[in-house]
Amino acid sequence: MQGEAQASDQTARDALSGPHEPARSLYLHVPFCFHKCHYCDFYSFVDTRDRQEAFVDALALELHALAPHAAAPLETIFVGGGTPSLLRPELWERLTRHIGETFDLSHIRAGRGEWTVECNPETVTPELMRVLRDGGVNRVSVGAQSFDHRHLKALERWHDPENVPRALALAADAGIERRSLDLIYAIPGQTLGDWKRDVETALAIDPPIEHISCYALTYEPNTAMTARLRRGEFQAAPDELEVEMYEWLVERLRVAGLERYEVSNFARRGAECAHNLAYWRQRSWLAAGPSASGHVRTAGERANAFAPPGNRWKNVPQLTAWMDGVKRSEGWSPVVEHETPDDRRAIIERVMTGLRLREGLDEASLLEAAATIGDASELRATIARARASGLLYDDIDGHLTLTDRGYLFADGVAADLMSTIPS
Ligand code: SF4
Repeated sequence: MQGEAQASDQTARDALSGPHEPARSLYLHVPFCFHKCHYCDFYSFVDTRDRQEAFVDALALELHALAPHAAAPLETIFVGGGTPSLLRPELWERLTRHIGETFDLSHIRAGRGEWTVECNPETVTPELMRVLRDGGVNRVSVGAQSFDHRHLKALERWHDPENVPRALALAADAGIERRSLDLIYAIPGQTLGDWKRDVETALAIDPPIEHISCYALTYEPNTAMTARLRRGEFQAAPDELEVEMYEWLVERLRVAGLERYEVSNFARRGAECAHNLAYWRQRSWLAAGPSASGHVRTAGERANAFAPPGNRWKNVPQLTAWMDGVKRSEGWSPVVEHETPDDRRAIIERVMTGLRLREGLDEASLLEAAATIGDASELRATIARARASGLLYDDIDGHLTLTDRGYLFADGVAADLMSTIPS
């Protein structure tokens, strides 16, 4: 993806120029990876280790520009990528110190907030974990994907699965109390038995993890893996198998005390990822690094409290263009997408992500919000149809909540609701 997108003349400053609420969350994107996995469509590229320092310098400039738009204290930070744990420990030391000096981290340091760093199991060392913990990081998310060499190979992930429990143990030893794991299912060639073994291996990790994200392999349009699928080099997992894997997963994790709180995310009660919840609830967050996307809700007069409209933007997804832009514009990244506040879009986005959550959506607020932009009767009828089909519960505290069956068709239910939001 590097080099594809052209930035407009706008910078992230334009998205933050109007009245908006202070953002309680911050996302940082680290684009370096060992290798480009052929299913991946995130902005990332192979690290040559010669640009890490310049990257951290530019990130510091950008964070300085963003800081006045953050709430004090900040509630969540998430460092994703790419492979953030590829950054050298001395650069992590510099970066965490800079973040600590630039933002109010009192909430996070007191354990009431959350600071997550995504880690590749191969890159986790005692030194890195100590540096992260000393810097304020209190949660790691380790990309396991599978514990089976054959399936890791199918994904082009080259880590040794033995290093996953090792990495999590090192994080625990360093005092990083909150630990999560990512798995992928419906990998070509993977059987239900293989998948069960992966999940059981994850559950047997000691000390136990509190959170697990399980994603079905998706074939994004512009990836090498999708091109290979189209060329007939392998077959995708059948839909029925994917459903069987998911249904087994939900039940197995429930028995293990990890409840589904979003379609693909499971946690012990209270261990849900607060940062991702901020996304799914359409709150405000700032974004730093190439390709990072931000969202801030407008302040003041709001068309509706259910889905306050906001500015969305995406930093240019190209390291050199991002670094040059940040240096040229007092820390402000060029952007490739900037969407200005729009009531209808805000309601649509709230439905799209909120319906995937266990907490669901407040029905009366949704209908009231829809009525502020037009006739909500068609939306009301769509809700009734989804209920009659057993995809939404009849009524849970006035919320629209997916049933077990509804979770299998979550995107379709959301699409039906979104298509009947008045224009
Ligand atoms: S490690 Fe993650 S971000 Fe990097 S290429 Fe692979 S899937 Fe993409």
